[in-house]
Amino acid sequence: MKNNEAKHIYKNITEILKMITDASKFRIPLVLFKSVLDAFPTLINIFIMKSVLDIGSKGSNLMSLLGVIGISAFLYITIALYNAWFNQKFKVHSDLCIKEHLQSVVYSKIPQIDLEAYDSTEFYTSYTKAVKEINNRAISVLETLSTILSNFISLIGVASIILYLQSELILFVIMYVVLSTFIASRKTKVVYQADMAQIDDNRKMDYVSRIFYLKDYIKDLKVFNFYTYFINCFKEVIKNLHIIKKDFENKFLFYDFIQNILQVVFVLAMITFLGIKLFFKQITVGSFAGLLNSAQSLGNAIQQTFTFFPDMIQHSMYIDNIKELLDYKSKIETTTHGKKTDRNKHVHVIELQNVSYRYTDTSNNVINNVNLTIKSGGTVAIVGYNGAGKTTLIKNIVRLYDPTNGKISMDGTNYKEYEISALRSMFGIVFQDFQCFATSIADNILLRKLETPEDEKLVWDALHISGLAEKVKSLPKGIQSVLTKEFDEDGVILSGGEIQKLAIARVFAQNYPIIILDEPTSALDPISEFELFNRIKEISKEKILIIISHRLYAIRNMDKIIYFEKGEIKECGNHESLIKKNRRYAEMYYTQCD
Ligand code: ADP
Repeated sequence: MKNNEAKHIYKNITEILKMITDASKFRIPLVLFKSVLDAFPTLINIFIMKSVLDIGSKGSNLMSLLGVIGISAFLYITIALYNAWFNQKFKVHSDLCIKEHLQSVVYSKIPQIDLEAYDSTEFYTSYTKAVKEINNRAISVLETLSTILSNFISLIGVASIILYLQSELILFVIMYVVLSTFIASRKTKVVYQADMAQIDDNRKMDYVSRIFYLKDYIKDLKVFNFYTYFINCFKEVIKNLHIIKKDFENKFLFYDFIQNILQVVFVLAMITFLGIKLFFKQITVGSFAGLLNSAQSLGNAIQQTFTFFPDMIQHSMYIDNIKELLDYKSKIETTTHGKKTDRNKHVHVIELQNVSYRYTDTSNNVINNVNLTIKSGGTVAIVGYNGAGKTTLIKNIVRLYDPTNGKISMDGTNYKEYEISALRSMFGIVFQDFQCFATSIADNILLRKLETPEDEKLVWDALHISGLAEKVKSLPKGIQSVLTKEFDEDGVILSGGEIQKLAIARVFAQNYPIIILDEPTSALDPISEFELFNRIKEISKEKILIIISHRLYAIRNMDKIIYFEKGEIKECGNHESLIKKNRRYAEMYYTQCD
């Protein structure tokens, strides 16, 4: 192992140990104490075996045997009591604290990850690996250290016994250890390669299993009998795993075979060597048994001690995955210094200057050289066919993505100069694929816990604007009704249109100066949609309001309508002027409304 590599491993291991100590202060000292205790049974067994056999064969001192048994009994009981307390009382809670701390470290990193990263498979792989590994890997590191320590103590004890009784045996043991350590280290590398080769298929397997248990997918799966497709997908993944395992099986077979042969050869060599000594009466029967046992224990102890390095290499490789996620450098989400602003401030204008955006995996710009000024008090609708780039434009406007070219500013200040959370706090937005959560209607609207009577008023006002108040009044628990039956037997199931109204209510429960609705009303009937948009327009007079909709009838009263195509603004004006132009917007309108 090179010096740098050793330093890197040392750093990784100490970092994870520090995280464990932060989570559970006494875990490491108590594990170390347990390791010391765990080393004793090996030594006690050798002593008892030798003493009993010597008494049987040549009548050694009975008192010394009773002494050994007495001390052994005391140690065994102490170890048993300590282990029971450690495993059943201390470890269960300590494991939970470690889980809480480490998962929180990973979870609190997630908000700092740019949306762009989620578009990459590489990120998903690294994220899955990190979340999957972090708890178990931390505990495994501790277990390895504990095993090493207890083996090391046994090793010192057993080596002293051997040196005292028959020092030549040490040579056999050393030979055995060197060879088996070499094999173990080669095998560890192959284990890691095999794990990495399977990670994508394991991810697909997780996805299929999610599809089978998450309610969101059930309707489509049932109606289209899509189950068979995913069962086949699952089988395909298993087929791939067979292929991957086949690629590695000969290597594993080879290493296992060599390890087993080596062990058999070692034990046979010991028996032969000690048998000859016994035959020539150079050792007693007790010493024969004790030494044979000691040699095997020593072999195992040294082998385990030497596997410390391959094990640590493996741990370090996995810790690298965790660090890859924790060290992720965001371009947007960590803009934590900068100009502050707050949502009670009036926003006059948002300006897009020559804005272009290209996804990392697309060859062409999805947004192309867009120049747009959106002023408060003038409502804006963005229309266009699917894939025109409307949502991507919105994601740039709320700084989920940064333009590849050009700049966006709010009241004359470049977005990049604002602290990101301050900038985002200005936007009340409903995405096409918004989410509602299995919690109360009130919390879903406030996006925090409802606490005061003022909060209740905010919720009801917002429900009135979005048109859901009547429905919520009819529910026995009103705004405290929990959505879905996932955690509550009495949970309510809302229709698609009602859920959309709930999401819309969110943006009116706070005083956002900028409101963006990205096709939020697709499940509403055209008349309700038209009325809702007019209501929203009325109360957003002082704000910036941007609505994306496919239904041109519903947005025809908006002050400015932007017809978007292939990432470009093709037409812009109010409804009447665009109809007069009689181009793409007019064509789309007549197709829908004639
Ligand atoms: P619209 O909202 O007008 O329907 P979008 O902005 O959602 O259009 O998408 C515009 C184009 O960008 C589409 O061709 C779509 O396939 C592509 N696109 C959207 N999201 C991504 C993404 N995360 N990665 C790569 N391409 C994307």
